[in-house]
Amino acid sequence: MFKTLINLFFPKVCAGCHSFLLSNENVICTLCRHNIPLTNHHLNPENEAFKKFYGRIPVQHTSALVYFHKKGIVQEIIHNLKYKGHEEIGTVLGTWYAEDLKNSAILQTVDEIIPVPLHKRKLRERGYNQVTTFGKALSENLDLAYNDSILFRKVYSKTQSKKNLLGRSDGIDTIFDVTFSEKDHHKHFLLIDDVITTGSTLEACSHALLKIPGAKISVVCMAMAHS
Ligand SMILES: [Zn+2]
Repeated sequence: MFKTLINLFFPKVCAGCHSFLLSNENVICTLCRHNIPLTNHHLNPENEAFKKFYGRIPVQHTSALVYFHKKGIVQEIIHNLKYKGHEEIGTVLGTWYAEDLKNSAILQTVDEIIPVPLHKRKLRERGYNQVTTFGKALSENLDLAYNDSILFRKVYSKTQSKKNLLGRSDGIDTIFDVTFSEKDHHKHFLLIDDVITTGSTLEACSHALLKIPGAKISVVCMAMAHS
């Protein structure tokens, strides 16, 4: 009800450029969709995102939908998703990416989609995990289970500065942990996140998930940082 009233008085604007959306446009305008730099990782299994994890963690598949540049459209879109409550952006990106990923042979073997978790206190403060709608759209469109209870974050930090946490030598295996039972053994988990930068967060999550006997990991993100 409140949302309907808001839309009535404030026309919807594009999450990338803030121009007014036409009635046939949804969340991101046609021009921004056209201008967003796509990675096309799904067409190349040995892509640059996949190579980020060489020698760090065994991954079956890694890909990101778009490139993230400082001050670019994608930075604006992710900012609106993460800090401005625009969860619908995740739905749009997840639905978009599911179309690209549905023919990926390796993803046919995925059992569950696992979001990079926020600490429960952080989740209370923000009100939502910014990757939830992305993951749920992938889940619906790829017909995969969504599981946000197996992996959890143990450490709270006000900014969740990856540098501070992961820069410590003891950091990597102390941030995330898993809670699982025998039915979770030998599953292929698809970890999802917003932006791949160094890959350290995903690496730390994978370390936790790999405590599960027979676990396999793949990674899908909305964006990948690119200079
Ligand atoms: Zn736009």
